[in-house]
This record gives sequence, C-alpha cells and structure tokens, in this order.
Amino acid sequence: MNKARLAAKLVEWVGHRNLLGLWRWSGALALNYHRIGDPGDSLFDPGLWSATDEDFDAQVRFLKAHFDLVGPGDLAELQRRGRGRHALITFDDGYRDNYEHAFPILRAHRVPALFFVAAGLIDRGTASWWDEIAWMVRTAPRRSLPASRWTSHPIALDDPGALGTLLGRYKSLPESETAAYLSSLAETSGSGRCPPEAAAGTWMTWEMVRAMRDGGMAIGGHTVTHPVLSRLDEEGQRREIAGCADRLRAELQLPMRWFSYPVGGRGSFNQETRRCLREAGVELAFSYYGGYRSYREWDPYDVRRIAIEREIDLSRFRAITTLPSLFGRERRNSST
Ligand SMILES: [Zn+2]
Repeated sequence: MNKARLAAKLVEWVGHRNLLGLWRWSGALALNYHRIGDPGDSLFDPGLWSATDEDFDAQVRFLKAHFDLVGPGDLAELQRRGRGRHALITFDDGYRDNYEHAFPILRAHRVPALFFVAAGLIDRGTASWWDEIAWMVRTAPRRSLPASRWTSHPIALDDPGALGTLLGRYKSLPESETAAYLSSLAETSGSGRCPPEAAAGTWMTWEMVRAMRDGGMAIGGHTVTHPVLSRLDEEGQRREIAGCADRLRAELQLPMRWFSYPVGGRGSFNQETRRCLREAGVELAFSYYGGYRSYREWDPYDVRRIAIEREIDLSRFRAITTLPSLFGRERRNSST
C-alpha cells in the first residue's frame, strides 16, 4: 500500500476529528528501556534487550530533534502549565549495560534520563528471578517439564513460548510461593539454581550509579527484590519501598523521589502501594502498560510508559512517539 492510501485508510479508520486530537496530544511521553547492546550468547532473558547501541543512538537523536526531552524534576511544573509534548527516557532494573552502553550515548547527546534500580540486585549481584528462569530454560539437561502443581500441562523447554509461559506463571503467584516455584523448576529441569558467578558483571555497582548521578542522570527506586507489589500485603510492600529508599539514601545521598513498579502492568500495584509511596515521599511513580499520560488526566502515581523493544525499527519508533495513543498501546510481551 502506498503512503497516500495508507494515510487515507488511517483517517478513515481513526476518524478525522480523533486524528487531529491524536496529533495534538500534550503530556508526558515516557519511554522505557531495560538493556542496551547485543544479547550475544547470554543465557539470560533475551527479551530484556531493548535496543542495540546503534538503534538507541538513532532513537535518542530522533527524540532530541522532535521533542523536549525532560527529566522527572521538570514534570510537576510542566503538568501545572498543561501544555506541550515532553519526552522522558527511563530505564528499569539497574543492568550494567545502562552504565556502559546507554550512559555514554546519552552524554554524547547531552540528554537526561531516569534510571530505576532494584537495590537488592545491585547489592547482591545475583541473577534476577526472570534471568534465572531464562538460565534454567537454556541450561536444563531435561528438555521437558512434567505437569505439576505449577503448570497444568507438560512444557517443552525447546518450545519458543516456554520462557514466556514460565515467567507468566511466576508473575501470577503469591509472593510466598515464588521461592518454591524456582526450586521446583531447578529440580524438575535438572538445571539446579543459577550460580552467583553466572551473573557476574550483570548489574551496575553503586559506584557506577553514583557516576551516572554525577553525570546528570536522575536515579529512582524499583524496590529491593523486584516482587510484583500487589501480591504482597501492605507491610511487605512497605518493606520493599522503604527498604529501597533507605539504600538510595545511604549509597547516593538522594531521597527516593521517583519510583517504577516492577512488572508495571495495571494489576501490579494497588491502593496500599500508593499509600506506601506517599509515606516514603515518592513524587512520581511509573507504570509500564503502554500509552502516555496526558496533562489533563495526570496521575502522579501512574505515569504511563511505553516499552521499547529490540524488534522496533526506527520507522515504528517514529510512529509510536508521534502517535502514542495509537501505536504505543498495551505491551504484548512479558519483560520486567
Ligand atoms: Zn523491572
């Protein structure tokens, strides 16, 4: 289909008035990345790589040319003014490539970004639950898991959908059952648990996070152990949120003003989460189910973000950022 026909179809499909509204959107367009670079032969979850260095560089260049790229400290004032299209680059989890790959690119373009770190992953340096499940799938000597209390049917580990199924199951569990689930996977697959040395160099050190802070990047919290917060009772949520704030204060001498919800779907946080965030003094909390947050419907504890994933080429990236309510909808895959 040529461009003119495509445009005509688009107008017909969305409706002319709606399309004008889509073009004229105003608000905060927050994009979310996890890892930058090339997964190569990594045994960890390949879905976490959001862009190659080259793609990330091209995306930053495009954003810088077409948007006001802002930091989280600007958003309250911009929201009060209620006008303009502002873009915010964010990263979740605290992977070392954020420091080694993304930070130099951001610095070269002189643009700000916001990095959310899970304090316990930085402290311990061991594999996260999603990377450990990916590691088990890749290394297990037994290539099929029998049906069990965890999965209603056998799972062939060579099936391309196996990892997504196992991650989805983890996310559906009450937090109290997650450790038993990982042990069961380790045992039935024959992989055992991921040894700490397999995760060496995966996470930033606090020294690296401090260097990014000093280089003008904003740092926010992402809990201690990266649980789905809504699966914890209020006390458990408070421990994860306040515990992360304590570590940021101790290591970075920063209050935890910004926060992102692990997993980040609509069901991953609740009223108790919001209460704990308020108590901890958090000013903005970011979700992760697509779309953007318009200044008219502002919710400081649900600033929506769009997932950027490796298969998004520059033309799709342009479409997503130009018409986020059309192309930046709900995420389909299961990253964290
Ligand atoms: Zn995360």
